[in-house]
Amino acid sequence: MQIPGHIDPVTTGTVPLRRGNRVDLVGLTREGIRAALEEAGLDAKAAKLRSKQIWHWIYHRGVTEFDAMTDIAKAMRPWLTERFIVGRPTVVTAQVSTDGTRKWLLAAADGQEYEMVFIPDADRGTLCVSSQVGCTLNCRFCHTGTMRLVRNLSAGEIVGQVLLARDALGEWPKGTMASTADIDDEDDDAGHYTADGRMLTNIVMMGMGEPLYNFDEVKGALKIVMDGDGLALSKRRITLSTSGVVPMMARAGEEIGVNLAVSLHAVNKEIRDEIVPLNRKYGIEELLAACAAYPGANNARRITFEYVMLKDKNDSDADARELVRLIKQYKLPAKVNLIPFNPWPGAIYECSSPERVRAFSNIIFESGISAPIRTPRGRDIMAACGQLKSAATKPSRAELDRIAEEKQAALG
Ligand code: SAH
Ligand code: SF4
Repeated sequence: MQIPGHIDPVTTGTVPLRRGNRVDLVGLTREGIRAALEEAGLDAKAAKLRSKQIWHWIYHRGVTEFDAMTDIAKAMRPWLTERFIVGRPTVVTAQVSTDGTRKWLLAAADGQEYEMVFIPDADRGTLCVSSQVGCTLNCRFCHTGTMRLVRNLSAGEIVGQVLLARDALGEWPKGTMASTADIDDEDDDAGHYTADGRMLTNIVMMGMGEPLYNFDEVKGALKIVMDGDGLALSKRRITLSTSGVVPMMARAGEEIGVNLAVSLHAVNKEIRDEIVPLNRKYGIEELLAACAAYPGANNARRITFEYVMLKDKNDSDADARELVRLIKQYKLPAKVNLIPFNPWPGAIYECSSPERVRAFSNIIFESGISAPIRTPRGRDIMAACGQLKSAATKPSRAELDRIAEEKQAALG
């Protein structure tokens, strides 16, 4: 089938919604929960009330059993349990890095596996969420890019990662109150997360997959994550990273409205064509023009350009100066995030030396543009940027080249 919200002709498997004959309510809109309850036999008024209560229990309280939903009539709880579930992905493995970064390998109801990473910092905690199992693209420096796209994750599977992280971090509000009256004062700023001492404060769509090739499900999931009567994360604390799916960028800004990160990685056609092959379809000029038009980008909310530092490939002083020139030419409210290349078995690149990365960063800073160097996190458990991959089998070099060729052919 065609990927929903997808603009390129890449086929993928289907997304299962039901477990057994019970419907998983995670990932449905409020309206979707209401409709599911009505379809199961509740009258319109009851369905509306119950959907509101259930939503609150799922997303504000983290409850997975209808029996624990104490403001729902006792007699109704078994009726719900027979027909619905509040699902979670299955945890296959959970690892903790020496630097505190955590990585989970998760399995969906159909057994497909994907990874999720939590990166704790002094002032924030960032959850790195996957949008696809595998990826249709094959950026040459990315481990996920060596996988085929197996399928898109559903909205439920995407938001399920956030719910699971909250479970694992023990961060659901305590207490027994059941009514919506006990919601914190949820304004647009989720500052109270840190004030509450919560660890999970930020979300980045930077796990496995290209989020803009799974637009509808990513949008559905992020709408839920941002909903005030629930997880209530501010759009300012969410960042979506794209390798440059130009036709979907304006919609991402208008319909989702989160911060944008763009995986630029090179400043001329020859190199970007090689390392981010999507560039052959949507070139640098088109991409930067789409960034300039990105709704909501301004000096207070800058676009982040991600730039992986590859030795002797994209890391010269001239590259840094060209990057500055391009940002200025397109008048972009931008910052640059320099990512030291994270190695993985079979990778054909090396990371630039620390001195080279520093020199590159300095040139950009000197032009007045912020260009911090990202500290690699979780490398020891293969949890750093670009190291995620879920298939147990490791393809050979020849197999990798064949996958790359297939993907290139699909790009046209
Ligand atoms: N598919 C999206 C988001 C996931 S990747 C995208 O490409 O933007 C998150 C970031 O990690 C991207 O900027 C990606 O280019 C970068 N990355 C991939 N492989 C890497 C590696 N081996 N080392 C460092 N960064 C890498
Ligand atoms: Fe896919 Fe992003 Fe990896 Fe490129 S960098 S292969 S778009 S996950």
